[in-house]
Amino acid sequence: MTTTAVPTLREQATPVARDRCGAPVVDLTVPVVGGSSVRSTAGTAGLEVSEAERSERFAQMRAGALGSVHSWELVTAVDGPGTRLTVFLSGCPLRCLYCHNPDTMEMRRGEPVALEDLLARVARYRAVFGVTGGGLTVSGGEPLMQPAFVSRLLRGAKEMGVHTALDTSGFLGAHCSDAMLEDLDLVLLDVKSGDPDTYRRVTGRDLQPTLDFGRRVAASGTEIWVRFVLVPGLTDDEANVEAVARYVATLPTVTRVEVLPFHQMGKDKWEQLGMRYELEETRAPEPELVERVRGQFRAHGLTVH
Ligand code: SF4
Repeated sequence: MTTTAVPTLREQATPVARDRCGAPVVDLTVPVVGGSSVRSTAGTAGLEVSEAERSERFAQMRAGALGSVHSWELVTAVDGPGTRLTVFLSGCPLRCLYCHNPDTMEMRRGEPVALEDLLARVARYRAVFGVTGGGLTVSGGEPLMQPAFVSRLLRGAKEMGVHTALDTSGFLGAHCSDAMLEDLDLVLLDVKSGDPDTYRRVTGRDLQPTLDFGRRVAASGTEIWVRFVLVPGLTDDEANVEAVARYVATLPTVTRVEVLPFHQMGKDKWEQLGMRYELEETRAPEPELVERVRGQFRAHGLTVH
């Protein structure tokens, strides 16, 4: 459920510092405390990739002992409150035209990572999470493609007292068990459009599962942050935005809405993968358009960022 371009595990072996919105980048060799929106990679040192054979690996994945992981990052003020370890899992059933990380779409492109190794990494950052009010965010791709792994990861984090968040489109919400919901403090729900036809044009899939999942999360009492990617000529239609805002306003546990302006940071990855990128000519939205859309959400009494 990626809204920013992230490096792969291999790329992270040589840490690649980058940012989300033009702010200076800090290479994270020491824990970050504070409230900047800096995003920085943490590398892969200390995590061992399993050497299980393919069939054994598959069995371990089904049991949730092994995950297919694209990358991870230590970030501040994105993907949830405080400083977070965001883990990007591989595999996604959607094909968003604006996807910034199309290399997360296929699960086979991920690296096998043992649950216990990932939990050991979570444990290493517990003090940072404590100081900053941060925690673990499980993202993707679509994390609910690997429900057993995510379920055990969340449980392990909760056993350590770590705040947990799930970054999802909600399309596979049926894969999220009640136990998993109980282990979640926050759901970052991407509502990519309010009009079903636009949703299908953007993602190639149906909108309804997302709407259903959002209602279920809200009914469980779990906090939700909604994300909406604003793409000129694709998702910016007033009626489409209005439909998203109307829906979000019915979810009582939504505490913020993030309107994320489209950018071209993922373009090169589409080309590298030999995939057709349809938004080549699309520009970032003008500030006036961003403000109009944010205003539409605010008009429904929502807190907008
Ligand atoms: S295809 Fe869509 S849902 Fe899947 S990772 Fe890309 S942006 Fe996220």
